[in-house]
Amino acid sequence: MPPCPSEFRLLQITADDFRRGETVFDAVKSPYLVPFDRSFRIASAPTSPPDDAAKKSGLKKKLEASVDRLDDLQRKLYALDRWGVLLVFQAMDAAGKDSTIRAVLRGINPQGCQVTAFKQPSSRELDHDFLWRVSSRLPERGRIGVFNRSHYEEVLVVRVHPEYLGGQRLPVEIPLRKRWQERYESIRDFEKHLARNGYLVLKFFLNVSKEEQASRFRERIDRPDKNWKFSEGDLAERDLWDHYMDAYEKALNATSRPWAPWYSVPADSKPFLQATVAEIIEASIESVAPEYPKVGQKRRKELLALKEKIL
Ligand code: ATP
Ligand code: MG
Repeated sequence: MPPCPSEFRLLQITADDFRRGETVFDAVKSPYLVPFDRSFRIASAPTSPPDDAAKKSGLKKKLEASVDRLDDLQRKLYALDRWGVLLVFQAMDAAGKDSTIRAVLRGINPQGCQVTAFKQPSSRELDHDFLWRVSSRLPERGRIGVFNRSHYEEVLVVRVHPEYLGGQRLPVEIPLRKRWQERYESIRDFEKHLARNGYLVLKFFLNVSKEEQASRFRERIDRPDKNWKFSEGDLAERDLWDHYMDAYEKALNATSRPWAPWYSVPADSKPFLQATVAEIIEASIESVAPEYPKVGQKRRKELLALKEKIL
C-alpha cells in the first residue's frame, strides 16, 4: 500500500521542519557553522584563521574570558538541571583535539564534566549496535559531556576502511552506499532524540591542513617528550587523507542540523581554534541556561523563615 500523503511527509526532512520548532534549540551562528542544505565543501573550508583575526595575545585573552564565563554557565546549567550538553570532537590526527578540550574546559568544575575518548571498539562494544557505547557515556542533565572521537568514527574511519565492517558481525550484507546512508539516518535520529530530551549537541570538526599535520608529526618525532604521541599507524592514515576528507564532507553534510550542528573550525592555529570553539560553546549554553532558576515569592519567604531557625 503506498504511504498516505501525511505519512509520506514525515519521512522527509523539509525546510519547514527546520523553521517550525521541530527543534528546541537553534544553532548559534558562526562563519564556521556547517550549513544544513548539504552545501559544505571541505576543499573550500578554511584551515587557517581569517586575515582580520586577533593576534595571539588577543586570542588568549578571548579564550580566558570564555573559560571564565563557561564556568559560570556550567553552574547555572547544573542548578537548572534541565539541559545536558554533549560536545563532539572529530579530526585528523594531530589537529589538536586533546589540547582544545583541555584549554576550553579547564575552568569547569570537574564534577560537572565527563570526558570520554573513543578508540578502536572492544569486543564487548562490537557485541552491540554502534550507538551503544556512546549512549552509555552520555552526560546527565546539568552536565557537560565531551566525546574525543565518537559515533562518527563509524562513518569516517570505517568508511575509509570498509573492511572493519567485517568485524562488526552485521546480520545482513547490503551495498556499502546504503550502509552509510543508513548510518547517517541512525545518527540523525539519535541526535534529534537527544535534542528533544534536552541535550544540546555541538559537534566540532577541527580542520587542520595536510601541511600543518606534517609539521606537527615532525615535531612529535623531534621532541622526545612528544615521541609517545606518534605511531606509524598515523602515517598510514595520512596516506588516505583524500579519502578521509571525502568521508568528512559527506558525514558533515548528512548530519549538520539546527538541533545538532557541526562547526568546521580552522585548526592550523591553536590559539584561534581554541578561542573560536570556546566562544561557540559559550554562546550555545548561554542560549539555554542564561540564569539561575528563579525562586518565587512564597519560597523566598520560606527560606527566610528557615534562616531564622539556624542557631
Ligand atoms: P591522538 O591525537 O593522541 O593520536 P587519538 O584519538 O588519535 O589521539 P589513538 O589511540 O591514536 O587516539 O587512536 C584511536 C584510533 O581509534 C583512531 O585511529 C580512530 O580512528 C580509531 N577508532 C575510533 N573509533 C573507532 C571505530 N568505531 N572503529 C574503528 N576505529 C575506531
Ligand atoms: Mg592517534
